[in-house]
Amino acid sequence: MNEQQIASIVEQVIKGMAAKGATPKASGKYKGVFSTMEEALEAAKTAYKLFRGYSLEQRENMITKIREKIMAEAETMAKMGVEETGMGRVTDKIIKHTLVAEKTPGTEDLQPRAYSGDTGLTLVEMAPFGLIGSITPTTNPSETVLCNSIGMLAGGNCVVFNPHPRAINTSNYAVDLINRAVLEAGGPENVVVSVTKPTLKTADAMIKCPDIKLLVATGGPGVVKTLLSSGKKAIGAGAGNPPVIVDETADIRKAAKDIVAGASFDNNLPCIAEKECFAVASIKDELIHYMTQSGAYLLTKQSDIDKLVKVALTEEECKQGEGCSDRPKRKLMLNKDWVGKDANLFLEAIGITDAPKDTRLIICETTEDHPFVSEELMMPILPIVSVKDVDEAIRLGVKYEHGNRHSAHMHSKNIDNLTKFAREVETTIFVKNAPSYAGIGAGGEGHTTFTIAGPTGEGITSARSFTRQRRCVLVDGFRII
Ligand code: NAD
Repeated sequence: MNEQQIASIVEQVIKGMAAKGATPKASGKYKGVFSTMEEALEAAKTAYKLFRGYSLEQRENMITKIREKIMAEAETMAKMGVEETGMGRVTDKIIKHTLVAEKTPGTEDLQPRAYSGDTGLTLVEMAPFGLIGSITPTTNPSETVLCNSIGMLAGGNCVVFNPHPRAINTSNYAVDLINRAVLEAGGPENVVVSVTKPTLKTADAMIKCPDIKLLVATGGPGVVKTLLSSGKKAIGAGAGNPPVIVDETADIRKAAKDIVAGASFDNNLPCIAEKECFAVASIKDELIHYMTQSGAYLLTKQSDIDKLVKVALTEEECKQGEGCSDRPKRKLMLNKDWVGKDANLFLEAIGITDAPKDTRLIICETTEDHPFVSEELMMPILPIVSVKDVDEAIRLGVKYEHGNRHSAHMHSKNIDNLTKFAREVETTIFVKNAPSYAGIGAGGEGHTTFTIAGPTGEGITSARSFTRQRRCVLVDGFRII
């Protein structure tokens, strides 16, 4: 009996065991989506036992099917995401889904390493963790579920998702898509699972389940902190506030076009998008001029900027221990109802009705201490701060990136300036002379991800990030020279 026949018998036996009633049935319209976290965990455990028996080639076939389905259903998911969350732009979300389908690495990312020497051969392989618990955001809901699933399944894992409650239908549609694709490619059911009503309680049950061996947080500081405090291995992909610098050596017309494209992409929802601009004074007016020719609307009156602050941000009482020493009693918070809304809606809300219909971004000049600079708005609003020279720009860029080590961007033709900012800001992604999205492979080289792990260092995550190294040593053999 050969190895393939043995694997096939094992598969049949496990399938038989599963059919005898051990696996909970998915609830509702989506495959892999369960009413309780306990059921979801049980189903994923059973799936993993089966999934372990599949070869790399079979995994890759499943991933090919997933890619096909994402391409076919990109528009459906883009529309669903905008409708359910009220955030972002359908056309941009289609691009994001296409990027996931085309540029998320599969099993080819799992290159083994070998050491060969006088004492024999040592092999290092990238093995699955087993079950991964993944918490996903509202800003890229289906994109994150799909991208993480491809990487995690390629690595041989099964996944338990606890998606953002405000994007649950879109996220669970993506869970269903993965399961449909895997089944069509001959794989087991429930390789990725989720719940109908995710809450902090279901997240907690997932985090604490002993079968979950790796946790992945994609979101703001709260979820990253929770997962990193869990006592388990965790990957943290947290918040950003990416600065973009333009110095006097840049191609100003191109810089303006690129910045408007990046900062307005999906209404500034991506964590990598340009969120504040530091422009050297000698080129600032020219930059603003070309931005207004590229789809940006300039607010010139301070009273309009003040009105926009009142729409975008709300003031709340500071709770004890929140570190609001500079604003002792009250702190500014994002007005969540306005995150990811179209620029024209903001303009209407402040009484500007004559802006061009295709306005993608609102720009305004502010000082560096303005809340638009310090807050991660995730709105199509870009403050521009005039600085005397590139050194001041770099100092402020580093300051307002807030040490997130996430993303920063620069337009310059001076290699020394580019190198200086890249070194000082220490971000995971640094894009030169292009829109921010080039950093995740859209118009730039390299693979894509929607889980950028700055705090824990995996960076632009891929299948490899979701595996553990295993070493196999053979002494005095297998060396052929
Ligand atoms: P969010 O932090 O509000 O929510 C993210 C997820 O975490 C949701 O599923 C939420 O329900 C869950 N969550 C929040 N607090 C939790 C806790 N204490 N325990 C368990 N789960 C918890 O973020 P959002 O508004 O959905 O997304 C926007 C934020 O995410 C921004 O700060 C953005 O920069 C960041 N983000 C980062 C990346 C990255 O790759 N680094 C990608 C996308 C978004």
